Amino acid sequence: MATATTVVLTVVTLPVAASASAGPVIDPDQQYAAFLAEKKADGSWAGSADPGDKAKAPATDLAAFPKLTDRQLAAMKAATPKVAASGTEAPATVQSVKVTAEGTSVTTYLPAPGVTPDQLAGNLRSRGQASVRVVRPAAADGVSLMAASDCSYGYATTFSCPVSYWRNEGWEDPYVRFNDHSGSSWPVSKAVPKWNTVQNIDSEYHFNSCSSVSGSRCVDVFSGNYGATGWTGLTTLYYASGSPGALSDSGAKIQLNDYYNPTTYGFTRNNVATHEVGHALGLGHNGYSGDVLYYVSNTREDIGGQNPVLLAGIYSVSR
Ligand SMILES: [Zn+2]
Repeated sequence: MATATTVVLTVVTLPVAASASAGPVIDPDQQYAAFLAEKKADGSWAGSADPGDKAKAPATDLAAFPKLTDRQLAAMKAATPKVAASGTEAPATVQSVKVTAEGTSVTTYLPAPGVTPDQLAGNLRSRGQASVRVVRPAAADGVSLMAASDCSYGYATTFSCPVSYWRNEGWEDPYVRFNDHSGSSWPVSKAVPKWNTVQNIDSEYHFNSCSSVSGSRCVDVFSGNYGATGWTGLTTLYYASGSPGALSDSGAKIQLNDYYNPTTYGFTRNNVATHEVGHALGLGHNGYSGDVLYYVSNTREDIGGQNPVLLAGIYSVSR
């Protein structure tokens, strides 16, 4: 080859078991760039997969998923926290960071089962991803108990301290809409209503549409065969310059990897979708290995007893 090539010295062995039906491998960054270039004013994109039943899914499903009551939240607070994972099982978080004129973007990756955070970080670096870091909990036994207004509660944590949060922007509660462009195998329409049960923050589901509403944002959700990346899902959030923790109105996205077969790898796509939506609302990883926000894809699909308490606490004050 006559052109300059990058010599990759890092050898990373990742589990390989692609499903033959996943289609050609696409690059997640190129997919997002194509979306930005082609999306219409109503937030739709021609590259969105066949909606099937997703296009009929309601924005909210308050009958099936009502807001948690004060009594329910109090019971969650009173419940004994589950035991945090420790040692090598501690919830290390793999992130890549990009600094631009508009602010800082942080992408958080969910390792596929069997892929360690260090393997995933090595793979991302070998693929040219800049500023990859593995963030480990300060204490070997996870995180310490703190008040709900702080950056963790029980074993639930936020991305960053001070907390990551959406601004109210004139709404009583921050109003976040998930604009789903992903394929029918990803139950995003089932994941979003679960998080909308949390007090003080409103989450809506939309398929391939997110028209402009003052003070509301659209978090775009994609899927694709991204290949043997080592991750099943990622969430990218932007932090505006000069306001620590405040999420910027543009650029938030979730990408869900078709490559890893849930049956082969022992996780569920509902787990991954629910996990990433939790990140998009400001939550970090949960130290309990049976939690939907644990740092490895698993089969847990409910939003857990501590994540709602922490999230409701974060949004109990208007910002
Ligand atoms: Zn995660």
